[in-house]
Amino acid sequence: QPTTILCIGMAGSGKTTLMQRLNAHLHSEKRPPYILNLDPAVGNLPFTANIDIRDTVNYKEVMKQYNLGPNGGILTSLNLFTTKFDQVLGFVEKRASSVDHILVDTPGQIEIFTWSASGAIITDTLAATYPTVVAYIIDTPRTTAPATFMSNMLYACSILYKTKLPFILVFNKTDVVSHQFAVDWMTDFESFQQALQQDTTYMSSLMNSMSLVLDEFYSHLKVVGVSAVTGEGMDEFFTAVDEATEEYEKEYKPEIERLI
Ligand code: GDP
Ligand code: MG
Repeated sequence: QPTTILCIGMAGSGKTTLMQRLNAHLHSEKRPPYILNLDPAVGNLPFTANIDIRDTVNYKEVMKQYNLGPNGGILTSLNLFTTKFDQVLGFVEKRASSVDHILVDTPGQIEIFTWSASGAIITDTLAATYPTVVAYIIDTPRTTAPATFMSNMLYACSILYKTKLPFILVFNKTDVVSHQFAVDWMTDFESFQQALQQDTTYMSSLMNSMSLVLDEFYSHLKVVGVSAVTGEGMDEFFTAVDEATEEYEKEYKPEIERLI
């Protein structure tokens, strides 16, 4: 059974670039993945997708026809694509026995996938069929401010509790800034409190209480630092994927089998 890796993250965090890197890494190990592109608005894909939403729907046409803006166009395209997801699963199934990984790229704007019915249907359908893990991609250089870091973590937290899937926090762009500060903040509560006190941008008492909530969240996570550009951290990434797959088998799968 291949493991499905859902690449989720804020616009510009590097999902697509990381997909390219993961693809190259797996090819070099002679373990080519099966690739799904779910972003209808991507101009130029730096890898070849086995299934590409753009082959099914033209999001610019959708925008015109339904008189929508870009986000509405992307969401509607994803909805149209999802109506055919049973066929997509059929294609994946034919190749499933010969691949170790299914990589899934999602639309640039995170909420289109994480807070839509289509996103939930696609996630749940995949997770009911294959071991599935979330790779939550973070733009490390843009999350060095404690307040930004915290809002990003709260967002990740909401996705973890929504999907209940094994979760890997992927600090990307470590070629620009090391993710060590984040590891420190996540493992040493006091160091984060200290950083917060120097950050006067948000209400710090609210932030103090929230950071206590996050402490619990951190204990459910795997954390890795990578650079999609240099390829740093690939081995740690795939080790985390293997661990997350085990976690899926132990915790998520029995839950599914109880329900189906
Ligand atoms: P997406 O919207 O999440 O799919 O983000 P993209 O993959 O399109 O990347 C957004 C921008 O970040 C692009 O300009 C990339 O070249 C850049 N980028 C992505 N990964 C890295 C990285 O590891 N290091 C650096 N320095 N830039 C990166
Ligand atoms: Mg992208």
